[in-house]
Amino acid sequence: MKFDSPLFDRIRVKPSKDRRVKTDGPTCEWVGCREKATHRAPKGRGRENEHWRYCLAHVREYNQNYNFFAGMNDDAVMAYQKDALTGHRPTWKMGTGKRGAGRPNLDTAGDPLGMFKEFGGRAGPQPDPDHKPERRIVRNAERKALETLGLEASATTVEVKTRFKELVKRHHPDVNGGDRSSEDRLVEVIQAYNYLKTVGFD
Ligand SMILES: [Zn+2]
Repeated sequence: MKFDSPLFDRIRVKPSKDRRVKTDGPTCEWVGCREKATHRAPKGRGRENEHWRYCLAHVREYNQNYNFFAGMNDDAVMAYQKDALTGHRPTWKMGTGKRGAGRPNLDTAGDPLGMFKEFGGRAGPQPDPDHKPERRIVRNAERKALETLGLEASATTVEVKTRFKELVKRHHPDVNGGDRSSEDRLVEVIQAYNYLKTVGFD
């Protein structure tokens, strides 16, 4: 491209305008919000030097739900916020989705209940039918995760998904007046579900 062309001049005008807007201050990082970010909110456990930048309304909402967000990874917080726009229908998109596409980031999602530490650290070992001891650990982890969802060891993927949706609805802080115990329970449910997805329930 010729940098002295009229086209380049036209392109150049817009970025410099955008830069000017940015020097007025950062934009609120809440999904879908375009207000100025006038407040900072800590990202929580193990991320002491990291902050979200929010407008006043959203720093309030975040603080009200702080115990719920603390320790969640960025994707999870964003997913929640996006969800807030649609009235908190349980459309969680934590982790990485399909099996084989990667593993959910439990490392940064935090582990408030020590649940995954017990499974052997991080998201637990890779399921490997040829390696018996690891397979047994996965089986135990699987059973425990299913118990967390109130399901039998023989539960199917459909049952897991259905129960997960029910529990997210039931324990969502929005329907429980921000009750701390329901938040804890919800985190437990989400972690159990994410774990089950990594071992084939997806
Ligand atoms: Zn905002």
